[in-house]
Amino acid sequence: MNIFKTLAIVLKSENWRETSKILTLFSQRFGKIKVIAKGARDPKSRLAGNLELFSQISIVFYKKESTDLHLLSQVDLIQPLPKIQDDLKRFSYASAVTELLNKLTESEEVHPGLFNLTWETLENINEAPQNKLDNYLWAYVLKLASNLGYRPKLSACISCNKKEALSGEYLFFSSEQGGIICKNCVQEGSFYLKLSRKSWEAMKSLLISQNSYLESLTLNKKQISEISDTILSLLEYHAHLPKSLKSLEFWEKLAEK
Ligand SMILES: [Zn+2]
Repeated sequence: MNIFKTLAIVLKSENWRETSKILTLFSQRFGKIKVIAKGARDPKSRLAGNLELFSQISIVFYKKESTDLHLLSQVDLIQPLPKIQDDLKRFSYASAVTELLNKLTESEEVHPGLFNLTWETLENINEAPQNKLDNYLWAYVLKLASNLGYRPKLSACISCNKKEALSGEYLFFSSEQGGIICKNCVQEGSFYLKLSRKSWEAMKSLLISQNSYLESLTLNKKQISEISDTILSLLEYHAHLPKSLKSLEFWEKLAEK
């Protein structure tokens, strides 16, 4: 057994036996890891209180060779995100972030860049005005997809590579081919998603967006739904992700009431 120290974000927490927890963490050094926090539900435990969902923590753990469930030894709370805990909408959006990251990455696969991207997104979901949460979430999903090798091609036709053919009020997106397709290359009998010009332009910007852009961008419901359908159907096709996110379904049902 080796002992390691790393920063990590709490993605998931499950109770285990009488007093323990099994945590799924996204760590800076090792990617996604699972650790058992023995006795963490005992209020007197030195692990208790520092393991809230979405928090950034610094951990020391024993890395076992024979299994992918490791032993948590020490936790320091680096930064909690209290507004997410107190607000159902923020909580649902933050859950969508961790749900996607958990589903799209393999255990102990190192992904440089994803730790910072995820943490920055969670901080924004904690702080941003409620009507901007979609901007941060969908920018994250696009960047996450790109980081994992599923970057959609949006700047030119995926088939003929021409930019000038992308005219008109609506464009077509091929999940199978992974990009925008022009009218000349569209094939009968194939499945395409329809994307308004505005949504297409917003998606191109979201892919490379900085925070200042996300603060000022305003998307309407239709654009949000076109953008989310496009990116989720791309991930469904190539990464076998279920088409809908549990965390967002929960929020949408609640918001309808
Ligand atoms: Zn084309």
